[in-house]
Amino acid sequence: MNLNELTIKEARVLLDDKKITSLEITEACLNQITKLDEQIHACLTVCADKARVEAKLADERLARGEKGMLLGIPYLCKDILMTKEIRTTAASKILENYIAPYDATVVRKLKEAGAVLLGKTNLDEFAHGASTENSAYGPTKNPYDLTRVAGGSSGGSAAAVAANMCLFALASDTGGSIRQPASFCNVVGLKPSYGKVSRFGLLSMTSSTDVVGPIAKTVFDAEAVLKIIAGKDELDATTAPEEMTNIKNVFTDNSSKPFAGLKVGLPEEYFLENLNPEVKDRIMAAAEKLKLAGAEIKSVSLPYTKYGIPVYYIITPSEVSSNLARFDGIGWGLKKEEAVNLQEFYKKSRGAGFGPEAKRRIMLGTYALSAGYYDAYYKKAQTVRTLIIEDFNKAFKKVDILLTPTCPHGAFKIGEQSNDPLAMYLEDIFVTGASLSGLPAISVPAGMIKVKDGSDMPLGAQFIAPRFNEDLMIQVAKLIM
Ligand code: GLN
Repeated sequence: MNLNELTIKEARVLLDDKKITSLEITEACLNQITKLDEQIHACLTVCADKARVEAKLADERLARGEKGMLLGIPYLCKDILMTKEIRTTAASKILENYIAPYDATVVRKLKEAGAVLLGKTNLDEFAHGASTENSAYGPTKNPYDLTRVAGGSSGGSAAAVAANMCLFALASDTGGSIRQPASFCNVVGLKPSYGKVSRFGLLSMTSSTDVVGPIAKTVFDAEAVLKIIAGKDELDATTAPEEMTNIKNVFTDNSSKPFAGLKVGLPEEYFLENLNPEVKDRIMAAAEKLKLAGAEIKSVSLPYTKYGIPVYYIITPSEVSSNLARFDGIGWGLKKEEAVNLQEFYKKSRGAGFGPEAKRRIMLGTYALSAGYYDAYYKKAQTVRTLIIEDFNKAFKKVDILLTPTCPHGAFKIGEQSNDPLAMYLEDIFVTGASLSGLPAISVPAGMIKVKDGSDMPLGAQFIAPRFNEDLMIQVAKLIM
């Protein structure tokens, strides 16, 4: 087995036993990137020399007898998180040459834990999208079929983990961007509860739903990363205090059936008649495993599910239009445009710097927030959002956890949907609910399904848990993967 194919858990044992070094795993990952990334295009920046320096430092720490789950483990980071001395583009032309003066809190925490940063991964520009086709630097391809998308917006992170370019990757999820690409690429994607992980140094998209989380090869590995990056941060006022986020509500049944008494809900609205039967089969197979372990499978209803997409696509552009207002092109990015006055400068730099989807969201959001339409759109969307949250609250009175498909289908062809923004928005049908409600959710590989041309592509099963109950979610997900 090549070292880049190891899981974190496997690498940990070998590193601690001094059978391998961090530098060796790092070189194996860098080789894999060199070998495959010209085709896959998961990475926007590779910092090989820096990675070697960090790996040697980790090896020194290991030689001194230091311990730590991620000490010496190489990873890639979505290019929407600030990294000191390494450019951060958000896959946008407007930030083409931007080098942040500081690390995002999550990056700093990983550095302190001794993880080795290999580079930055591709995404839809500013994380707007579900296919990575909105990247100003070209799409990421799915390692399972290079003619298909890797999903988005964290397509680069998911593809990199699937192609063994790293042992794990950092990503962000605003409305599915960790889970959907994880489903398309057959890896584990964990979206933490809103407020569990610091957003400091994450370029803001939808500030009320943005979260940072891991994409990994196993649930165990995703948990290991979450443990390091989670926690209250002075620099992000929305991070919740430890006592709130530390719900140790795991299932402790001592009978031979580990999940005896656990109630798993299947939301009716996620299994409508037109759902691809193969998708349903894979999720029912996951439910069957839980049943064998003693869980009770129950049908529940989340009646406001159908409003998830319209609500999300009012709130997201509204917040996006406000958050993107700060990018004026003055400090960095495109080469300076000639302009006779400031207004014209903005027009030129923003006109050339933002891609079509960012512009579409700026327009939609500005409209939804404008004086005459605010009540009809933004305010109404926020009201319905509360109903969506209440749906989940009610469901969690009846069951401990929800099980759904992550996506209604497998990865589609590159270009197949790129001219149809509405079709792209509909991609998010099963993932926006947890985002709007701030709930933790995880996508775990659930098997392969046939896609239109008859080939087999991966599908993820999604677990959604009550807010801050990551521990239970992880415990249940481990049974599947
Ligand atoms: N597909 C969603 C969107 O386009 C996901 C975005 C995300 O989670 N960053 O908004």
